Amino acid sequence: TTAFLNNAYMPLEQASISPMDRGFLFGDGIYEVIPTHYGKPIGLQAHLSRMSDGLAELQIDNPYSAQQWQTLIDTLIQRNRSELGSDYIGVYLQITRGTVMSRQHAYPQDITPTVFGYGFTLAAPPATTPEQVTTLDVALLKDRRWERCHIKSTSLLGNVMHFEQGKAQGKQEAILLNAHDEVTEASSCNVFVVWQGDIYTPPLDYQLLPGITRKLVIESLAKEGIAVYEQVISKTMLLQAQEVWLTSSSKEITPVTHIDEQTIGEGQAGPVWEAALAAFNKHKFTL
Ligand code: PMP
Repeated sequence: TTAFLNNAYMPLEQASISPMDRGFLFGDGIYEVIPTHYGKPIGLQAHLSRMSDGLAELQIDNPYSAQQWQTLIDTLIQRNRSELGSDYIGVYLQITRGTVMSRQHAYPQDITPTVFGYGFTLAAPPATTPEQVTTLDVALLKDRRWERCHIKSTSLLGNVMHFEQGKAQGKQEAILLNAHDEVTEASSCNVFVVWQGDIYTPPLDYQLLPGITRKLVIESLAKEGIAVYEQVISKTMLLQAQEVWLTSSSKEITPVTHIDEQTIGEGQAGPVWEAALAAFNKHKFTL
């Protein structure tokens, strides 16, 4: 595995940073995961733009130009594709505020951000038919995270604890409900439902990550003349839905068949999911 750390490429085992990095001390940084298939990134510009937004929100100066990011990402894709022997490579990027000499909450001035990246083998994308796709059983949990979930922060303890809570119940993910019993997102995915024949996903705000797959799914469906309503999804709508899907860079669009004890729809991947994945696969490299 080839990694990138502070302007140099190296084998992942050789990459190391100081324990005084604010990423380690405070989780003071952001990250991105960019999926690539056969050397081609999916949603690259959207990933880079979300990264810029996150840096701006944290008041960390973007350390590289668009061209430098492009080169860095291309290099990680090419090297890791041959080293890992996979056509499905994820590029992980992380930027922290940098390494300090003393631990203080205040943002220190004049420090250099730490930039880290590496490539990893992505799970193969989901099968495209209801008969073949692997579906998910998920838990339904109270969202106990903070009010800045739109930032792709490396401070993921809230998400990790929710995922683990689902896993302890024998589930593969957890869908989260806010204090008003409205769906926010899952611990590492966005949520879509098909309800009374229409497709819904929660509107973007501080309660959820603006997922790039979510965006590409909405745009792919729009190109096929199918609307997605960005509207509040109540717990009732979720549990009465004909279909529920989770989206993320690694899962693309994956159907959910059980939520806690409840069976969703017919308990198998549905026709709207099949159409949505077909639309996504048709447009994902060109959006
Ligand atoms: N929500 C959360 C909390 C996530 O961590 C992720 C990324 N795994 C997503 C949604 C999906 O985002 P994307 O489509 O950009 O991978």
